[in-house]
Amino acid sequence: MSDVTTAPTHCPYCALQCGMSLRPTGAPELPVEVVERSDFPVNRGALCGKGRTAPAVLSSRVRLTEPLVRCPDTGRLVPATWEEALAAVADGLRRTRADHGPDAVGVFGGGGLTNEKAYLLGKFARLVLGTSQIDYNGRFCMSSAAAAHQRAFGLDRGLPFPLADIPKSGCVILVGSNLAETMPPALRYLTELKENGGKLIVVDPRRTRTAEQADLHLAPRPGTDLALALGLLHLVVAEGRTDEEFIASRTDGWEAARAGAMAHWPEHVERITGVPVPQLREAVALFCDAPSGMVLTARGPEQQSKGTDTVGAWINLCLATGRAGRPYSGYGCLTGQGNGQGGREHGQKADQLPGYRKLDDPAARAHVAGVWGVAPESLPGPGRSAYELLDALGGEVRSLLLMGSNPVVSAPRAAHIEERLRSLDFLAVADVVLSETAALADVVLPVTQWAEETGTTTNLEGRVLLRRQALTPPAGVRSDLQVMNGLAALLGWEKGFPTDAEEVFEELRRASAGGPADYSGISYRRIREEDGVFWPCPAEPEESAPEHPGTPRLFLDRFATADGRARFVPVVHRAAAEETDAAYPVVLTTGRVVSQYQSGAQTRRVDELNAAAPGSFVELHPRLAERLGVADGERVAVVSRRGRSVAPARITAAIRPDTVFMPFHWPGEGRANTLTNPALDPVSRMPEFKVCAVRLERADAP
Ligand code: SF4
Repeated sequence: MSDVTTAPTHCPYCALQCGMSLRPTGAPELPVEVVERSDFPVNRGALCGKGRTAPAVLSSRVRLTEPLVRCPDTGRLVPATWEEALAAVADGLRRTRADHGPDAVGVFGGGGLTNEKAYLLGKFARLVLGTSQIDYNGRFCMSSAAAAHQRAFGLDRGLPFPLADIPKSGCVILVGSNLAETMPPALRYLTELKENGGKLIVVDPRRTRTAEQADLHLAPRPGTDLALALGLLHLVVAEGRTDEEFIASRTDGWEAARAGAMAHWPEHVERITGVPVPQLREAVALFCDAPSGMVLTARGPEQQSKGTDTVGAWINLCLATGRAGRPYSGYGCLTGQGNGQGGREHGQKADQLPGYRKLDDPAARAHVAGVWGVAPESLPGPGRSAYELLDALGGEVRSLLLMGSNPVVSAPRAAHIEERLRSLDFLAVADVVLSETAALADVVLPVTQWAEETGTTTNLEGRVLLRRQALTPPAGVRSDLQVMNGLAALLGWEKGFPTDAEEVFEELRRASAGGPADYSGISYRRIREEDGVFWPCPAEPEESAPEHPGTPRLFLDRFATADGRARFVPVVHRAAAEETDAAYPVVLTTGRVVSQYQSGAQTRRVDELNAAAPGSFVELHPRLAERLGVADGERVAVVSRRGRSVAPARITAAIRPDTVFMPFHWPGEGRANTLTNPALDPVSRMPEFKVCAVRLERADAP
């Protein structure tokens, strides 16, 4: 691979998957630089600081370039050859399997892995290791929205329409999303919406930079979004704003959903949420007066122990007002991780097979087993969800292979998960730097990064994209695909595991054919020529032309249920798993800042990003700060039933007085996830990152 070609590619970070080009510099300290690509429609050349500085991680001085194996004598990680390291991993996994059975071996993936890696990791776990115990960190990201999407529409694709439709809508309700910090180039879609005369309602307990753009900002108490949506639906019905023709012709289940909403009187909803009734009425007027409308959710309503029902309540609002399955209307989820969408479609999820097929569906098992050349009954059944898998480490799950994730920082109740990881018989981690999780491993495998390999991702719109190799990887690192190939051979898998990404994609196309996420008509050639193809895109018969165009907009004619009708699901408000009380009187909510990404494993290694966002903080209202007696910048201890974190106070009137906010990107004493509650949503198995009860203490002596 030449180092002298400018290569069009995509950012390694969030689900927007901004287009960019990489140009070689010839300088060893920064071998490529980012060049804007104004022709890519999603970001039209705009990038945030993370994307702009992404090449810095390629040549970071803390980049891993040789495998590490833990020395039995000193307990330290020491350099090893690839042969030694892979043999040690194969031995560790084989020993566990022999002593405790295949389900004692766990596999944990990530929403940043390419489609090819996610696909092959699921196949590796189920065929080579024979384990059902595989899940990934995307479970912590958008699984509640995915479950609600499936339940209502019969199909989950984050956005069922392109981002470019947003400015053409009449009104957008943005729930629990701070686009200005999480994916800044997307903010322009909201700006254009307003320039076109559309209205923007933002629902967020904090007056974020995104909320400042809104025509109306609703600031509910964290964990009460479900009640808020029910209150709005109550008013829609009471004010005669339902779309009866749409309800009758395209939906089922309205009466039960309607009855649920009518039990939530606006005054009752005001008491639960803290949002005044006049604001509820104003929101209904803005949404229903507009000719079209969208509801977009992100982690705020989703990361709750009732996340699926919360998203369901917002979907019910869309359906009751006829704002779904129509141009410039609908419900959508703003997925977070770079391949959060594709990562959940191709088999690294505990309950799914490639093509977004269900693992417990006999027809799906038969199809995928046929592509893999094995008997359907040889495929294990569904395994534990991400948190349950991590919680079982050291117990029923004795060894773990982990790729593309850093749960020591990102898992809820993180100190407990760190302890579980330490209690394993064997831990192998593939990563680009020595993350906090990799530092606990028995073997660390240094792997290639985004610009050093080719592979596809699927962005939040369902647009399948190609990241192209621009750079030869450093000697001493291998791709994740090579890692699986090497381990499969050592573990006695004789059918081979491909190491070429396009070859893996060709197999993925066959495995996904006929499934809900059908990629069979998508090829590397088409992605290159068309700059992305939206799934579903089934293969047409050989002789037919033109090829299937892909599907930018879903549900316009029918929903993806068996009868083509959307389903209302009746939901009722319920409290968060952990409410405030005298001992823990304040609500903690968590989130992101613009200059860091997820667990920070990559972005904390970039000087420019670190300078902008050097560490954790506790955002709190001036009244709360005064009661506590802390000044801005003084250290505050935040204590929950799971632990204690300490970080400087950031005092602002932009947050509710009963709530504090902490970003979750950092390990150590400021680790927000030390505090968070792993209470799970019963459907999606999403932990309740967004709400738990805490108390505050001064950390510095007065
Ligand atoms: Fe990368 Fe997301 Fe920033 Fe775009 S918005 S440059 S995809 S991190």
